Amino acid sequence: MNADYIGSTPITSNSPIVKSLESVVDRSTRAHLVVAEKGAVSLTSPVNIATISSPFYSYLNIAYTGGQCANRTPICLIAVPLIVPIAMRRHSMAYEVPPLPYDYNALEPHIDEQTMHLHHDKHHQAYVTNLNNALERYPDLQDKSVDDIVHDLNSIPEDIRMAVRNNGGGHANHSLFWMLMKPNGGGEPSGRLAEAINQAFGSFAELKDKVNKAAVGRFGSGWAWLVLDKNGRLSVMSTANQDNPLTEGMTPLLGVDVWEHAYYLKYQNRRADYLEAWWNVVNWDEVARRFESSGK
Ligand code: MN
Repeated sequence: MNADYIGSTPITSNSPIVKSLESVVDRSTRAHLVVAEKGAVSLTSPVNIATISSPFYSYLNIAYTGGQCANRTPICLIAVPLIVPIAMRRHSMAYEVPPLPYDYNALEPHIDEQTMHLHHDKHHQAYVTNLNNALERYPDLQDKSVDDIVHDLNSIPEDIRMAVRNNGGGHANHSLFWMLMKPNGGGEPSGRLAEAINQAFGSFAELKDKVNKAAVGRFGSGWAWLVLDKNGRLSVMSTANQDNPLTEGMTPLLGVDVWEHAYYLKYQNRRADYLEAWWNVVNWDEVARRFESSGK
């Protein structure tokens, strides 16, 4: 077929690929879906563009080629190879790196643009890719949210448990981390969260000190957290590698990544300097929202 492959994305009615298709062609445009499966390629009967957002096709990874198909339809859609036959394929989707909720340079000067690009586009993507690879043979698990997976690691088959612990944790942690920062953030929490912090730690300054100590004291790579423990009490902890408090039955409210990839370009080995700067981008609204929705 004479078409340029430009990428792929899981399809939902809100998928960027569907939106961008709708912006260049009429929804009634007819096109073929090329389904590549274990090397065998088949062409569907022409379908309306509108139908690609239907549940039937929603599990396919489809690329808009923008070129001409061999059969001279104006566009064609290519499904990337599926591992299991379509008839057996459940309505599950591969995990994806969520887009940053702000620009890559929005956290400057505290967190630099280049670090955000590498951290989000490369490091987080690698966790997601490795998680998807690990779960490839377990479609049932793909239906779960990554938080559910991390929460119940013991239910993960032993042959992939460590890969899921590291990469599922990496996906869960980073998805949360991007939300916990914002431009012009920082300052101090307010309202019920502030009261709870004062009650648990004495003051906001004490909480900050505890988090800094947990973060600086984490040998090697890991995270420092403000969590709600099993009894609903605020507590500060740290985890190694990409472990997440959910695995220990705790609810993370605030977390800071102290892997060197989070700060090395700008702060080199000065983790404490990175932490001091990081407090200026904390999104307390999001922390408070998580606190309120925890129902404790
Ligand atoms: Mn990281």
